[in-house]
Amino acid sequence: MELRKDPITQSWVIQVESESPRLEAEVCPLCPGQEALCPKTIYVRPLDQAPWQVRVIPHLRPLYRIEGDAQRRAEGIYDQMHNLGAHEIVVEHPDHRLPLSQQGDDHVALVLQAYAARSADLKKDRRFRYVTIFRNQGPLAGQDLSHPHSQITATPFIPRRVGYELRSCKRYFELKERCLLCDIVKQELTQQVRIVDSNDLFVAFCPFASRVPYETWVLPVNHHASFEENLIFDDQQFHFARFLKRVLRRLEQVAPAYHLVVHTSPNVAFRPEPPGNWQSLAEDYHWHFEILPILPTKSKSYSLKEVYYNSLLPEAAARELRKLDPATDRKR
Ligand SMILES: [Zn+2]
Ligand SMILES: [Zn+2]
Ligand SMILES: [Zn+2]
Repeated sequence: MELRKDPITQSWVIQVESESPRLEAEVCPLCPGQEALCPKTIYVRPLDQAPWQVRVIPHLRPLYRIEGDAQRRAEGIYDQMHNLGAHEIVVEHPDHRLPLSQQGDDHVALVLQAYAARSADLKKDRRFRYVTIFRNQGPLAGQDLSHPHSQITATPFIPRRVGYELRSCKRYFELKERCLLCDIVKQELTQQVRIVDSNDLFVAFCPFASRVPYETWVLPVNHHASFEENLIFDDQQFHFARFLKRVLRRLEQVAPAYHLVVHTSPNVAFRPEPPGNWQSLAEDYHWHFEILPILPTKSKSYSLKEVYYNSLLPEAAARELRKLDPATDRKR
């Protein structure tokens, strides 16, 4: 496995020689009692007290390896590097059948706490430029272990979409001395046509140029660049847990499978750029969760040539999601 850079789009691709078989085990390696089947635990809550409620382990089939350095090298005009990085699994709950949206608010807060703690810890490693937290819900989204879990990767590069966002936000800030996402939130809250849910602290809306039906972003109303620094306080974790759960419970009534990805500021301990490049980062970037539902039958959404075709207007999607009761269980 190695990382190759597309010389035209500048995006890094994980090049795998052959696809390894799906993780099919007779017993679930993430269930309580099967800890011996897993690599050594990195993080667990509660601490020093059985049974565990949330734990983090290295991925059973990691895409990245933590040892060594990136060994960046060139072959003519092509750049490549060793698949240096971290790849971890957050086991969200001891109960195999309980998806995130069905867990208690306090429990979801524990999951968010694990996200924040692991992210802060991985960012201490100066070899990594970015920490990605994501979860694939449902087989359609590529979920390969049925036990409720999220994944965390730390990579020596910034993923392409986050790179675009960082550049756009910086440019907007240079022009207007304001945060682009703060301005978007203000406009969405005023217009009220794409809002799915909001309270004093958080807002969820379908973005103006949604890539797929029911695409939803969830973010803090008040400006903050870094998810892990913003969610360090218990009460903030709890409020966000409750809000996120309401959004997920609405979404799951229309789309049981989705990708969720956390977009937060890159690792500022790693600074190979010209000094000053990230000077305004704390002011210009604004963390958020992006949720991209996957609808197999209804939608013709695709990204042919990277132009998205979305058959559902975000205004209609938000209207529908607003009407759904977040206390209702998804259709089974
Ligand atoms: Zn399990
Ligand atoms: Zn902002
Ligand atoms: Zn984003």
